[in-house]
Amino acid sequence: MLADQQFLRIPGPTPIPPSVQRAMNQTMIGHRGQEAKDLIQNIRPRLKPIFGTGQDVMVIAGSGTAGLETAVVNVAQPNDEVLVVVTGSFGDRFTKICEAYQLQTHIINVPWGEAVQPEQIEAYLKQHPSIKVVFTTFCETSTGVLNPIKEIASVVHQLSEALLVVDGVSCIGGVESRMDEWGVDVLITGSQKALMLPAGLTFVAASERAWKVIKENPRPRFYLNLSSYQNKLQEDSTPFTPALSLLFGLDQVLNLIEEEGFSEVVKRHELMKNMTRSACKALGVPLLTSDETASPTVTAIKPGDFDSEQFRKTVKQEFGLTLAGGQQQLKGKIFRIGHMGYTSPSDVLQTISLLEMGLYRIGKEVELGKGVAAAQAVYLNQ
Ligand SMILES: *Cc1c(COP(=O)(O)O)cnc(C)c1O
Repeated sequence: MLADQQFLRIPGPTPIPPSVQRAMNQTMIGHRGQEAKDLIQNIRPRLKPIFGTGQDVMVIAGSGTAGLETAVVNVAQPNDEVLVVVTGSFGDRFTKICEAYQLQTHIINVPWGEAVQPEQIEAYLKQHPSIKVVFTTFCETSTGVLNPIKEIASVVHQLSEALLVVDGVSCIGGVESRMDEWGVDVLITGSQKALMLPAGLTFVAASERAWKVIKENPRPRFYLNLSSYQNKLQEDSTPFTPALSLLFGLDQVLNLIEEEGFSEVVKRHELMKNMTRSACKALGVPLLTSDETASPTVTAIKPGDFDSEQFRKTVKQEFGLTLAGGQQQLKGKIFRIGHMGYTSPSDVLQTISLLEMGLYRIGKEVELGKGVAAAQAVYLNQ
């Protein structure tokens, strides 16, 4: 096996495009000079269509969880009643952050592998009118579910004054997002998933309604104070030293997205989802989620008759294919295929082919090529 070739098919970190890798190697610049201002000014308007907002998108140095924490500390203060919709381990992370910051945290627990039904949120908000913020996950990475954010936003705003915070870390940049139109109040993503960068940046946008709450929130906060980022962004700058190399890379990521066309990027992710799911169905490998709720960026497989951990170990050792396992209650029970960011339909064909060989190797009865053929048919008929 080629020592430096990785088939990285996990839902983040994802592969880095060579041109982005090169862009990140640019000579370092001063963070308070004109070059840094030009860089930020150049990036600033181009993030908005990816979020589907006219608002500025704050770029903060930190992993995706820093973005989640930013949302929590900026929109809520101790003892506020909030509702967290938990559809998997990332919803659970929001719960932990809310509890750490002493919020009165209500939870809707949805069975892992299912999407939340907006009616569940509707019923909950009717019973608990003092809830001030609803926290949700767009793509629940741990299960491969895409929650219906548009419909959720609609019930939240019909019934209450609550803000809607959405963790979009594992899908923004790969799926359509209409933050303003849908009525999402805070939308968060990270750099190492669909945005094709290494980990280290988190992105947070807030609606006008959310900014009002943020500005009036007396809770002490410093590094994650969104207002500081907003103030500095007016001068195309940041309150603290930005992760400049990642910004060099981000500039090139935006070039790539614009060259392909964002609507084409979205279609590519949809196609990769359909190819992956058709292949699994053809091979008789059970999928965790329904077609209606499946995310375009990650697919979870729940094997009935083989050991997913043994399978993952085999494909890694023999073919250099890295797949993700399950998290928390799904640990050892599922495996996940990431197909987002710098990943093409051709990469999916390769992944499916290696998956078939892995199944063969662990002794599962499998007709080699059957999954690949199903995926090819989807690709040809798109
Ligand atoms: C990856 C991810 C995060 C952030 O995780 P970090 O390890 O902090 O970058 C948050 N939410 C979701 C849905 C994710 O997939």
